[in-house]
Amino acid sequence: MILFQQSNALRSFLDNQKAQNKRIGFVPTMGALHAGHLSLIAQAKQKCDIVVCSIFVNPTQFTQAADLETYPRPISNDIKLLEESKCDVLFHPSVDEIYANDLRKDDTNDYGSFLHVLEGASRPGHFDGVVTVVKKLFELVRPDEVFFGQKDYQQCLVVQTLINRAFQTIKFNLCAIAREEDGLAMSSRNIRLSEMERILAPQLYLALKKAKQLWTLETWQSAANEALKEIDSNAFTVEYLKICDQNTLEELLHFQHNAVIVLVAVQIGKTRLIDNILIDRD
Ligand code: AMP
Repeated sequence: MILFQQSNALRSFLDNQKAQNKRIGFVPTMGALHAGHLSLIAQAKQKCDIVVCSIFVNPTQFTQAADLETYPRPISNDIKLLEESKCDVLFHPSVDEIYANDLRKDDTNDYGSFLHVLEGASRPGHFDGVVTVVKKLFELVRPDEVFFGQKDYQQCLVVQTLINRAFQTIKFNLCAIAREEDGLAMSSRNIRLSEMERILAPQLYLALKKAKQLWTLETWQSAANEALKEIDSNAFTVEYLKICDQNTLEELLHFQHNAVIVLVAVQIGKTRLIDNILIDRD
């Protein structure tokens, strides 16, 4: 694997690969890699000749300073995992390399109402930061295909909108959620869970499965309420558990023949967890 920290060096390497008609696959991450990230690398390897992974803890998408400061950054272990996965290129830039000392964010206000609900409502400005960095990385890497995890479903809709607007040649791949054996969605933040919190955390997936089981009920509001009972209200603060349209993220309170997604976000102790389940595909 070749490691680049400078954009220019990465760009000239990729220009060379493009000149040889190599298909470039791109997997952007914030590091602290786990099997979920590696499943994205594996899918990119299957479809592309050269796989580029970026590790960049993007300051503009964090809405809490403490979360940014304590975000895990185990770079040596990440490099080892990427080498074992036969990733071709790691791009690991500094904040200055990406932002040139100017942490200005793009504005996503006109992306549509789907952006302002759920994570957009809970973390104001978060998607502005995501779009800002993803746009910079796409301009730099110029990938043929990109691979994003369904775990961050709303982010996938945001990135697809960015692609439709500005990068129409890029093929978007939505990759399934990798889970621990007990159902907990893998996340870089899971290592922050205490022993007891880790034991309780799979309740999120139980709740999603319950909602899926009950989705043929007339009222989805009651399916969502039943699902919420799977989550211990003493341990978790539930930010949302909603049954929504997969394309618009509009909340659906009654049975409809839409493609549906159930999304949940909770706070447990100091850690915020999100998860979701697609009803027509999972
Ligand atoms: P992050 O490092 O959290 O920014 O995630 C980088 C990419 O990995 C994003 O596209 C995430 O959606 C994806 N990802 C994170 N967790 C998982 C998971 N458990 N399964 C599959 N993809 C994931």
